Amino acid sequence: MLEGNRFACLTYHAIGEPGGQYTLSERQFQDQLALLHGEAYVIDGLEGLELRLRSGQTLPSRYVVLTVDDGHESAMWVADLLGKYAGHASFFLIRDRSASKPGYLREKDIRELRRRGFSVGTHGTTHRKLTFLPKKRCLAELAESKRWLEDVIGEEVRYMAAPGGFVNARVMKLAFECGYTLVGTCNEWMNSPATMALPGSVNRVNVRRHFSIQAFRHIAEGHPGFYIWRQIRATALAVPKRLICR
Ligand SMILES: [Zn+2]
Repeated sequence: MLEGNRFACLTYHAIGEPGGQYTLSERQFQDQLALLHGEAYVIDGLEGLELRLRSGQTLPSRYVVLTVDDGHESAMWVADLLGKYAGHASFFLIRDRSASKPGYLREKDIRELRRRGFSVGTHGTTHRKLTFLPKKRCLAELAESKRWLEDVIGEEVRYMAAPGGFVNARVMKLAFECGYTLVGTCNEWMNSPATMALPGSVNRVNVRRHFSIQAFRHIAEGHPGFYIWRQIRATALAVPKRLICR
C-alpha cells in the first residue's frame, strides 16, 4: 500500500439546535469547513479515499475524510455547504430510520446525495450495537442494510460505519464477507495510508459540540496531544469497545 501522509477522518451526526454533544451549531460547522478550505485541505469521502488507495496515489499533504452518520435530515444542509467548498463526504444511513422515522433522510434524499457525487454507506438496519448481537443477527444487520441501500441507489455499496463504534474482529470479518471494502470505526486515531488495507477499517474522530476551533485544527493536523488525550479517555472510561463480546 502507498506511503504518504497521515490523515484524519472526521465524523459528524447532526447540525442544528443543541441536542447533545454530537449536534453542532450551524456556525460551528461553517467555521470548521471555512478553516479547512482556508488552509487548502482536500475534503474527501470514502469513495475518493478508496480510489486514491487503489491507484497508489500519494495523498495530498492536507487531506481529511469527512463522514456523516445516522442520516439526520440536517445532512442535506451539510451537503449543500460542502458543495460550496467543492468538498466530498460519505453519508451513513440506517434503513429503518430512513423508512419512517421523522427527521431523517428519505430514499429520494439519499439518491440526491449520490447524484451530487457524495458516497453513501450503511449504518445498520436498526442501529443496534453489532458486537452484542449473535452472528446471525449481526449478519442480517450488515447484509440487509447493504441490500436495501443498493436497491435505493441502484449500485454496489462498499462502505459501512459501525453503529456506536461497536466493532471487533468478528464484526469486521462478517462485514468483509458481505462485501464491504471500508468500515468506519470510532477508534479516535489518525489513519496511515502506508498501513491501510482494502478491505480494511478507517479510524474516525467524532466531532463534538464542545470542541473549540483550536481543538478542531488539532484533529485535522494530527496533533499528538489531542489524540493521546482521546485514547487515554477511551481507555479510562470502559473496557475498549472492540473487546466487548469478542
Ligand atoms: Zn450512529
